[in-house]
Amino acid sequence: MDLFDYANSLNFGEVHFKTDAATGLQAIVALHNLSQGPAIGGCRFIEYPSTAEATRDALRLARGMTYKAAISGLPHGGGKAVIMRPANLPPEKRKRLFEVFGEFVDSLGGRYITAKDSGTTVEDINTIRRHTPHALGASPEQGGSGNPSPVTAFGVRRGIEAAARFKLGRESLEGVHIAIQGLGAVGSALAYDLHQLGARLSVADINPETVTRCVRELDATALDVDQIHAIDCDIYAPCALGGAINDTTLPQLRCQIVAGAANNQLLEDRHGLELHNRGILYAPDYAINAGGLINVALEYVGYDRERALAKTSEIYETMLAIFDRASSENLPTDVVADRIVEEKIFGQALR
Ligand code: NAD
Repeated sequence: MDLFDYANSLNFGEVHFKTDAATGLQAIVALHNLSQGPAIGGCRFIEYPSTAEATRDALRLARGMTYKAAISGLPHGGGKAVIMRPANLPPEKRKRLFEVFGEFVDSLGGRYITAKDSGTTVEDINTIRRHTPHALGASPEQGGSGNPSPVTAFGVRRGIEAAARFKLGRESLEGVHIAIQGLGAVGSALAYDLHQLGARLSVADINPETVTRCVRELDATALDVDQIHAIDCDIYAPCALGGAINDTTLPQLRCQIVAGAANNQLLEDRHGLELHNRGILYAPDYAINAGGLINVALEYVGYDRERALAKTSEIYETMLAIFDRASSENLPTDVVADRIVEEKIFGQALR
């Protein structure tokens, strides 16, 4: 599809390009919608096969940020930066590249606020921050909020609690069996949190060390990575890569709830309908995993950890509102989440 047609199909918005021959910087900033406030979204720094691919990624991700900010009630729109990572970038050039990127972000006058994403480090954000105030997630020594993953995990826990109440009639997670796929920054923090709350855990990760630690310290049961989704459990929590719910895994699910941290859990939109038809409650990914965004967004107005956690805790109520409406309208929860956002931003549902 033509890039402008693709942008229109996503209801854009604007796109800014920046090139700098001296550093090799080739950056794209996509601003999807600014009706709720300045756009916020991470800066991705990976290799792309073409400018068109990079632009498409920026467009798709920026749209997602609009939805995540809006469902979380943040005064922000959705944006995303993509820097096409040059092959073999020497470390001394990396710093200069992010300095020029910081100047680019600054030139947008606060319409776009950047943050960390795949391929960027807190050190890169520190560099950007020296050239623009419109950068969040710098290290605490630089006045930033630091690693957002524990806050994301806390939000996922609140979403799981809401789902357990709604679907299982449980006011606590004591004895609830939760299968966690992926024990990285978010998944492992979530596992420790859920263990504290008395949940029974099954876990899987391609990294055996992190699995062994959870088995030893949390009394978790280790499962194969290709079996975790199929275990008979109350809640399946995808916390690894996207696309966990697909044509292969769906018929094998034996859970009552899917609620985890991963982005883009549904491989395709139709898989949300399929979960709905099977009576499996799905916690829409961008709503349940918004803690990290909420955390950095609060940095914009003056960071306070307690406030960040209190705002993240509201994911519980957000989730219940989605579940209630999905139930009364007999619609998939992902459709309802989208509708809540679209009614707020565009004045009408788009799907
Ligand atoms: P991470 O890279 O720290 O952890 C991912 C984990 O998944 C790793 O331990 C990896 O070994 C494991 N993994 C990879 N493939 C696997 C497989 N096939 N089966 C089982 N485990 C596998 O990433 P993270 O920061 O913990 O993020 C996890 C997910 O949550 C990602 O989808 C991310 O986009 C999303 N997310 C993260 C945040 C955040 O604050 N970090 C915020 C919102 C969404």
